Amino acid sequence: MQGREFDIIRNYFAGLGAAAASRGVALGVGDDAAILEVSPGYQLVAAVDTLVAGVHFPPQAAGDAVARRALRVNLSDMAAMGARPRWFTLALTLADTDTAWLEAFSRGLALDAESYGCALVGGDTTRGPLTVSIQILGEVEPGRSLTRAGAEVGDLVYVTGELGAAAAALDYLADTTQAEQRRALLDRYYLPTPRVAEGLQLRDLASAAIDISDGLLADVGHIAEASRVGVRLDARMLPLFPGLTEISGERQALRWALTGGDDYELCFTVPSDKQPDLQRLIDSGDIGATAVGEIVAGRGIECLDQQGRAITPEQLGNRTGYQHF
Ligand code: ADP
Ligand code: MG
Repeated sequence: MQGREFDIIRNYFAGLGAAAASRGVALGVGDDAAILEVSPGYQLVAAVDTLVAGVHFPPQAAGDAVARRALRVNLSDMAAMGARPRWFTLALTLADTDTAWLEAFSRGLALDAESYGCALVGGDTTRGPLTVSIQILGEVEPGRSLTRAGAEVGDLVYVTGELGAAAAALDYLADTTQAEQRRALLDRYYLPTPRVAEGLQLRDLASAAIDISDGLLADVGHIAEASRVGVRLDARMLPLFPGLTEISGERQALRWALTGGDDYELCFTVPSDKQPDLQRLIDSGDIGATAVGEIVAGRGIECLDQQGRAITPEQLGNRTGYQHF
């Protein structure tokens, strides 16, 4: 590696680990690898997500927005597992050394690392098309993790927060007529709220969980597949992001919420005997979640529209979620 890359690490990333000395970091940034103290009696949970400029975010995006989104989508994976995020590594590929961009990137990363209580413990810095890859490491007690398998017939299906804003934001990137609304939508795209606290609270309540990265239909489909059950969703119950229907009509709003992706809310299932406990958490404001359907016998996903009729794939523009390839 060249001297300039060492400067980048020292200037922008070494400090991010220093504040984490008390957080189970025996050896952080600076050696050939990090050494971490996994809490006794816990399992290590690992996930990685890569964001490529021009594919996963607009190339002109600000450094802090890119950093925070990259960390947050990884935190969302921890949330979906019911894991507590602890550490992360960063593989950063830079096209050039834009110090203002790097400064903003480092600042954004430090901000979210601090607020979600996880430490940067290492990484790799290379040259090439702008790409940000974060690997996150978390902890969970054996047997308490949330997975996609475990949903059973009769369980209710819930989602946290509100759906559709991130997909609407992308459709409106080029639109300059409604600047204020676009800003609110773009905030939801760049700064999704990983539901880490909710995931931890759901460990003993949910029978299955996933985070919504590719659209509710596609992601609840993964629960159905892994759990070998069917799902019936009711579009009338979907918590649409406020104002979506006004922007573009009911059908487009549904499309964004069902197939748009990038919301990073949790979708989870709860058996009937645990629903009173969940309701208490909802009523007390500890979890913001809405029931949107139920687990049924069979396989596949059915979604009822506002009139109670099954929505056809054509009505959704024949899209069932984000396709990576
Ligand atoms: P090596 O050649 O042994 O892989 P590097 O020169 O790539 O080591 O990295 C030196 C140190 O800096 C390592 O501890 C590595 O984890 C850390 N590091 C490199 N890039 C980053 C980064 N983008 N963020 C955080 N730490 C980094
Ligand atoms: Mg290296």
